Amino acid sequence: MPAGPVGAREEQAQVIVVGAGPAGSSAALHLARAGLDVLLLEKSGFPREKACGDGLTPRGVAQLVRMGVDIDAPGWMRNRGMRWVCEGNRVELDWPQLGSLPDFGLTRSRHDFDDLLAAHAAAAGARLRTQVKVTAPLTDRAGRITGVTATRSPDGEPVRYRAPFVVAADGASARTAVALGLARDTNRPVAAAARRYYHSQARTHDPYLELWADLRCPHTGLDLPGYGWVFPLGDGRVNVGLGALPQRRRRPVDLRSALEHWLPRLPTEWGIQEENAESPLRSAPLPMGLNRRPQYRRGLLLVGDSAGMVSPWSGEGIAQAMEAAEVAAETIALALARPAGPRRERVLEQYPTEIRRRWGRYYRLGSLAGDLVLARYGYRPLLHPRVMASPPLLRALARLLTHVTDEPAHDTIDAVLHTLMRLVPSPRR
Ligand SMILES: Cc1cc2nc3c(=O)[nH]c(=O)nc-3n(C[C@H](O)[C@H](O)[C@H](O)COP(=O)(O)OP(=O)(O)OC[C@H]3O[C@@H](n4cnc5c(N)ncnc54)[C@H](O)[C@@H]3O)c2cc1C
Repeated sequence: MPAGPVGAREEQAQVIVVGAGPAGSSAALHLARAGLDVLLLEKSGFPREKACGDGLTPRGVAQLVRMGVDIDAPGWMRNRGMRWVCEGNRVELDWPQLGSLPDFGLTRSRHDFDDLLAAHAAAAGARLRTQVKVTAPLTDRAGRITGVTATRSPDGEPVRYRAPFVVAADGASARTAVALGLARDTNRPVAAAARRYYHSQARTHDPYLELWADLRCPHTGLDLPGYGWVFPLGDGRVNVGLGALPQRRRRPVDLRSALEHWLPRLPTEWGIQEENAESPLRSAPLPMGLNRRPQYRRGLLLVGDSAGMVSPWSGEGIAQAMEAAEVAAETIALALARPAGPRRERVLEQYPTEIRRRWGRYYRLGSLAGDLVLARYGYRPLLHPRVMASPPLLRALARLLTHVTDEPAHDTIDAVLHTLMRLVPSPRR
């Protein structure tokens, strides 16, 4: 397939990826590594901000390792585990020693992280086009996607990109998927989260990700249906924020006032106060529980937030975005090894099946836990003083919330969690 020059009004590729967040850059990298000609289109210029907690659990670290990202280079901050704080109790839980995952997590601001990942994809051979905003899908008479239209900054020049496959990695707005008629399942929750950076020499090298479970919404007096975090970045700053489900699935939570209510509870010597703030408070939605399905239709594959892949247990979405991107890239590479037509389609239909196999039951149970417990009382009931006093229970809970398990089971906790998942009916589509 001929590769068009950068300044052309029309370019062709074998695959177009819309959006260069963690989902898009990972997809582009794996596609390029499979020897495919891939165009990665991003509306912003790098580096750019993205509202995020900047935290990676071992699942996310494993994906970076699989992509060949040098996580020993300067700029990465390692963590040993999580510290949970609830009703005066605080416990530190190290990441477990498993066969399939690293025993540490990472933090890095998305300002640097997304830039680095996009550059990594470009170094692998993906053709990265920044400041290109995709405006609509192009389709043939049968409604199958054949490319996208876009505008190019700074002058808004219209451009067309053509390819037989498009990966929609355009985040929570999911514009590409919506344009192809893939609506959001309104029964699945969309949480919201907000973060702010502070200078804090006292906490910037903390070896744990700190999470607070007993927060309140000051206007309603109700428990925050979520949690607060203080994540160390190792560069003199911490990322402080909170995320919450809609209160009992209806009213959105006022995150700003909940944050203002919480911060005075943090020790003064941490310096997490207005005069040390380094950014405005930024918020964004968290589309959860695989809330846009199917993840494949007529040449379009959805990955990351555009498919609502954020975990309903924890609000974590980077690892899932990168993992699904790898699955999508493998699926496309296998599909292209077959002639266009029903045999190729059969391969592509495997993508949603594999996504369901990995996360279907786990997310279904998470959405149920969200409905029955988290949206009503937050994480406080899970971190009851009796649980906080029981290391085995805490370890199991931590691994359930973060999906850090070995398959096949490596220890008793794995065995219990796998059995629990098998009891959950598998979602059909
Ligand atoms: C406050 C907050 C805290 C969070 N904390 C964490 C955390 O600590 N750990 C974690 O794992 N997850 C966290 N998440 C979730 C995580 O940020 C997302 O799940 C993750 O960014 C999803 O990646 P993505 O690539 O699918 O989407 P995005 O990161 O949103 O990337 C989408 C990309 O597409 C581009 N784009 C959009 N539209 C177009 C278009 N029309 N044309 C071209 N490009 C386009 C965007 O500019 C962007 O670069 C948090 C979320 C929030 C809001």
